[in-house]
Parts: sequence; C-alpha cells; structure tokens
Amino acid sequence: MPNITRTSVATALIAPLALAATGFAQDEPHRTITEIADGVYRATNNNHGTVFMVTDDGIVLGDPINPDFSAWLRGELDSRFGVPVRYVVYSHHHWDHASGGGVFADTAQFVGHANMLHHLALPPDSTQLTDVEGQYAPLAALDTDADGVISRAEASDMDAPRFAGLDANEDGAISGAELMRGPVSLVHPPNITYTDQIEILLGGKRVRMNWVGEMNHSLDSSRITFPDASVMFVVDYITFQRLPFMEMDFELGMYEEWMAAIRETEEIARDFDHVAAGHGPVGTVDDITDWRLYFEALEAAVAAAIEEGQSLQEMQQTIEIPEFSHWNGYNWLDMNVLGMYHFLTD
Ligand SMILES: [Zn+2]
Repeated sequence: MPNITRTSVATALIAPLALAATGFAQDEPHRTITEIADGVYRATNNNHGTVFMVTDDGIVLGDPINPDFSAWLRGELDSRFGVPVRYVVYSHHHWDHASGGGVFADTAQFVGHANMLHHLALPPDSTQLTDVEGQYAPLAALDTDADGVISRAEASDMDAPRFAGLDANEDGAISGAELMRGPVSLVHPPNITYTDQIEILLGGKRVRMNWVGEMNHSLDSSRITFPDASVMFVVDYITFQRLPFMEMDFELGMYEEWMAAIRETEEIARDFDHVAAGHGPVGTVDDITDWRLYFEALEAAVAAAIEEGQSLQEMQQTIEIPEFSHWNGYNWLDMNVLGMYHFLTD
C-alpha cells in the first residue's frame, strides 16, 4: 500500500513537469509581439527577444533569433502590417540571436558591424578540435574515435539545427575550424557593414547602430537605437534581471572594456524612454544601472576574498549577493565568481 501511494504521488508530480519541458521548450515555443512605442515593437521567442520598427515603406528588424522564429515572424509581419522587411540589423553574430535571417533575403539588406565578417569566417583548416577554447571546447570530447572530426554519429545527442549550424561545409562532420567558429552557419551574413556608426532611414524614421567596441562578449556588438520612438536595443553584453551567463567567457578577457561599454551605454540610455534587451523584460536605463551595480558588487566581493587569501573554492562557497538573489540565473553565481576570479587574476 505505501508503495502504491508513493508511485502515484511521484507520477502526479513528474507528469506536468515532463509535459512542460517538451511542450514549452521544443514543440511550442512561447512567442509574443507587443508595441513598445510609436511603431517600434518587441518580439520574443522563449527567453530571447528582438525588436522591429514598422514604417509605410517597410520594416527594420533587429535580430532574427532562429530559423523557426523568423519564419513565424515573417507570417505575422505580413498579416499584421503588409509591408516587407527591408533591413535586418544585427546586434552581434552569436547563433542564438543572429540565425534565421535568410527567410527575409528576398526583400532585405543585412547590416552588421564589420567585425561580424571576421567572426563568421572559418579559422584556418589546420585548427584542431583540441585548439578550441571557451563554451564549445567541451564538444571536442565527442570525437571518440580520435579522427580529428566529430561525425554525426558521434554527435548523436546534438539536435539537427545545432549540428547544421556547426557543419559549415555540410560534409556531415565537424572539424576543428568549424567548432572554433561556432554554430553560425544559419546566420545570413551582412551585406552592409560599418565601423563606428551607421544610420538607416526608412519611411522617414531613423535606426542607428553604434559599435560598442572590442570587449569580452564579442568584437562586433552594436547598440541599436530608434531615436524617433525613444527605444534602445542591447543584447547580451547587457541583460535585464538575469545574472551574466555562467562563466562570462572569462577566457576571452577584456573585462575592463566590457565595463566601459556598459557604463557608456548607461550614460547614453538616459536619453531614451525605453531599453529592450535580448534577454529580460523591456525596461529603462535603471535596468542598465542595476546590471552595472551587480558587476561592481561581484567584483568587490571577489577582490575582497582574494585579498583575504581565500581559495577559489572557498569564495565560490561563501560569496552571496543577496540584493540580486531574485534575478534569473542566480544559481550561476558560483560560475560568475569563477569568471570574475579569472578577470581579476589572469
Ligand atoms: Zn551573444
């Protein structure tokens, strides 16, 4: 009898979670479109967000996010507004924001910072799987037969879009150069690039892209603004109500440059009513201030622990930043501490 009770309780608890996990994350992504201000809209796909501006002459779209989302969005834009996407303006090259723009290639120009082309280019053929550093480095271990490439069979746990994103030459195997470049094969490359600032005029409305400089997250990040609607769009180097992602790509360094980009963006955002981020709800300059304050609190805590002679493990166990414990990803704090430790000591 106790066994039966335990089994039925467990089933009742697990079933809704299993349904939510498959239904929400894969089969039915949660998608929204809402107007921020004056013809500038927010569109979301689960935890990823983009923006677009509608004019009589067409639409300027920010990040296309991924192929499924952009195909869905194209249908929504056609039925709601009846004008084509004329420009896709990229925040940066990363696959989870920049993939899928090809669905707009019949009507749109693609605009990104000049460094985006370097990020999308393949490293030399001689690059080995074991040369790869950072978030894709662990995938090198999938090459179990040690022939220097990851075959489709070796990557059987990897979903098809991720494999296709990595397999640039579509030969069914991932080389060292392809792994180092990352899963960006589904990113439609920009045909218009800029180095410092570019302004696009469509239907009498302006879109401005400013390079935020070389920094940790990427070398091609653009701050995208819609001055006629007082909307700013920033992606990944600033996120809202969420901790920095895991170990903060510490191996890329350039932490001071990252902080400088955050501070500069915070100053400029004071002139905008709305700030949308690639992750988190639409907010204001105050959300950028909170993001900066989190970094300052993390840096101060790690610096103090280093000063006290704590080991990395000790500081990962002891450091808490309770003012931000309600943010998403607070369970990444240990990894943030690791990243900050490297920023301060490498
Ligand atoms: Zn990114």
